[in-house]
Amino acid sequence: MRLTILLILCLASAWAQGKKTIFIITDAEGVAGVCRQDQTDPKDSEMRQLLTGEINAAVDGFLSGGADEVVVWDAHDGSQTLSALTIHPKARLLMGATGAAMTMERGYTAVAFIGQHGRANSRGGVMAHSYSSLGIQKMLMNGKPVGEIETRTALAGWYGVPVILLSGDQAAASDLRAIVPTAEFAVVKEGLSYYACLSMSAASARELIRERARGAMQKISQIRPYKIEGPVTIEVEYTTRSTLRPDAELAPGSEIVDARTIRYRGKDFMEAWVRSRSR
Ligand SMILES: [Zn+2]
Repeated sequence: MRLTILLILCLASAWAQGKKTIFIITDAEGVAGVCRQDQTDPKDSEMRQLLTGEINAAVDGFLSGGADEVVVWDAHDGSQTLSALTIHPKARLLMGATGAAMTMERGYTAVAFIGQHGRANSRGGVMAHSYSSLGIQKMLMNGKPVGEIETRTALAGWYGVPVILLSGDQAAASDLRAIVPTAEFAVVKEGLSYYACLSMSAASARELIRERARGAMQKISQIRPYKIEGPVTIEVEYTTRSTLRPDAELAPGSEIVDARTIRYRGKDFMEAWVRSRSR
């Protein structure tokens, strides 16, 4: 009994002394002031400024709330939106494709989404899509519609890491709220339709994000990782332009459902996830 208490105390103090690293996953469609497709071009200078401002506000909030380090992944369209010249001086910038694990194996303390949009087919979701608006019609995980939010939150959960903050439109916030109700949310715009929104100013969005990031650090121990237990099925319905070729090679554990839909099965989330990323 005494040994168990000792062990718990050791673990708790190791956690308290351990470096707290927050991993920010960025996107463009959920940024305040971004509402048109042309603005999501990675070279669009106004979008870059708007997104960078929101990221830097989140970094500020995390650091002032007790984080030791913040890693920012340029996760929008080919990782060519962010620059080391303008990213928060104390953050580190992760550039490029990161594979199925998205560097989560590095052992982050928590994950945050900045500039996030809702999953495909969300009503009133600004440019809502799941990974690829041109390539994917919809995705289902264990029969439920999902997008980047649900799958990446489950991936973090696989590593025992919670998602503590999301900034984006209200559709994105409600996607995360459904699975992590205790996270912090910064809703910076209201989607009216796919290409119509009512947005906060950049200044107000940054202020809100900074405050929520600080708040998320303060309640970090109360936010549970989102873990999916048991076997997992991920079904991807591709768009007509991405209809499968007749000789499409499938990873083991996957099956063709119809001309443009593949179902990937795994004994657990990770196996299904890796298989679904193989195409
Ligand atoms: Zn996205």
